[in-house]
Amino acid sequence: MPITNHNLWRAKANDTFVSSPLKGNLHSDVVIIGGGYSGLSAALHTAQQGMSVHVLEACTVGHGGSGRNVGLVNAGLWTPPDEVETILGQVAGIKLNHALAAAPDLVFSLIQQHQIECHPLRHGTLHCATNSAGLRQLKQRLAQQVKRNAPVTLLGASNTEQRTGSNQFLGALLDPRAGTLQPLNYALGLAHAATNAGAVIHTQSPALTYHHNGQHWLVTTADGSVTANKLIHATNAYDTLSTPNTAFTSVHYAQFATRPLTAQQRKIILPNGEGCWDTNQVMSSFRVDESGRLIIGGVGSLDGKAKHTHINWAHRQLKALFPHITEYEFEYMWSGRIAMTTDHLPKITRLGNNGIRLYGYSGRGIGPGTTFGKAAATWAMTGNEDHLPIAITEPKPESYIGLKTAYFDMGATLSHWLGRRY
Ligand SMILES: Cc1cc2nc3c(=O)[nH]c(=O)nc-3n(C[C@H](O)[C@H](O)[C@H](O)COP(=O)(O)OP(=O)(O)OC[C@H]3O[C@@H](n4cnc5c(N)ncnc54)[C@H](O)[C@@H]3O)c2cc1C
Repeated sequence: MPITNHNLWRAKANDTFVSSPLKGNLHSDVVIIGGGYSGLSAALHTAQQGMSVHVLEACTVGHGGSGRNVGLVNAGLWTPPDEVETILGQVAGIKLNHALAAAPDLVFSLIQQHQIECHPLRHGTLHCATNSAGLRQLKQRLAQQVKRNAPVTLLGASNTEQRTGSNQFLGALLDPRAGTLQPLNYALGLAHAATNAGAVIHTQSPALTYHHNGQHWLVTTADGSVTANKLIHATNAYDTLSTPNTAFTSVHYAQFATRPLTAQQRKIILPNGEGCWDTNQVMSSFRVDESGRLIIGGVGSLDGKAKHTHINWAHRQLKALFPHITEYEFEYMWSGRIAMTTDHLPKITRLGNNGIRLYGYSGRGIGPGTTFGKAAATWAMTGNEDHLPIAITEPKPESYIGLKTAYFDMGATLSHWLGRRY
């Protein structure tokens, strides 16, 4: 049976979060553009502080990365903490590292507080070494984490095999602060929690323009507008407002989900349910969902000409990692866009008077997006920029964005075409 070009998370979503598009001219304390983790967390926390808030979402809740990702709730960023401090300077680096080390606590506590049904599992993540260079990299990361009293441990090859069911790794960094969830259901849960707290979310309401008229922000859509004192622009990689995009490089990432594995296979493959990714330069990931589907992910787009190269790679990857799975079928496949900044650090940029833009999580947005959204809410309430996890900077165009996207796509295609052929 051919695999369907569908997103597993969307197919298994709890609901669709129905709301009406914006009509007419409204006013609120805060207007938020974008209905992903950043915008929804900002909406929830502004509404909880008693402010009136309207969210404008171009499509549906979780249409962007928040409804397409792997679902690994990681602590910190992909960039190791020492490097974060080198890039930002010690004081600012420590502040960002602290805020994001605590991000899984925030995510899992919101899930608990708002009873969000998104299959949260806090059994850690495994960063798996594919070769000796990868193992060296993990040892360096371990030293940096231990220095910061993070409860991270390095597993040997046999322990990694026991946990993953694959003998392809030389070891793995286990981070018990982290975990997995159903990403779209988490976004939908945040949307419901925000609405319950008093936020108004308008789906199918793409913001077409925004500007500050000296007193207020005015955001327009096809059928209405919102004026507000504060603006939070939270569209990340799916932005339709700032064209051409000069803020980040779009990197595509594809995922392939099997039918539920057999009970026997589940005993061997990730029996504890950790989410995994590897040390390869062209990174890949694997995890299981709550019904025991194995989900393999890798850099690449399923919308372009290289689709079949990536599908063939996914088959080879699965067979290489788990040769004991002789019979399987991919039932779902989908891809999404990651907003990657040059230094791989997220940004908060100033849009003008009382407006900020949150973006650039560089593939780590569940914890950071939730954290940045919450911090943006406090900023909206108090105007105090010290509460933000990273300083607001002026927008600075990144260079050669189109070329970099092509480079990532071509690199992934080449790597997937050449990789693991036998
Ligand atoms: C395939 C993939 C795998 C990933 N894996 C992980 C992972 O395992 N762990 C992790 O932490 N992170 C992961 N990420 C990153 C993470 O998904 C994102 O960083 C995060 O979802 C960003 O949330 P956001 O709310 O900022 O943006 P988004 O979720 O992208 O939301 C932005 C929203 O803005 C809307 N929008 C755009 N333009 C307009 C407009 N003009 N008007 C109104 N609305 C507009 C879009 O429709 C969209 O819904 C992954 C990303 C992808 C794509």
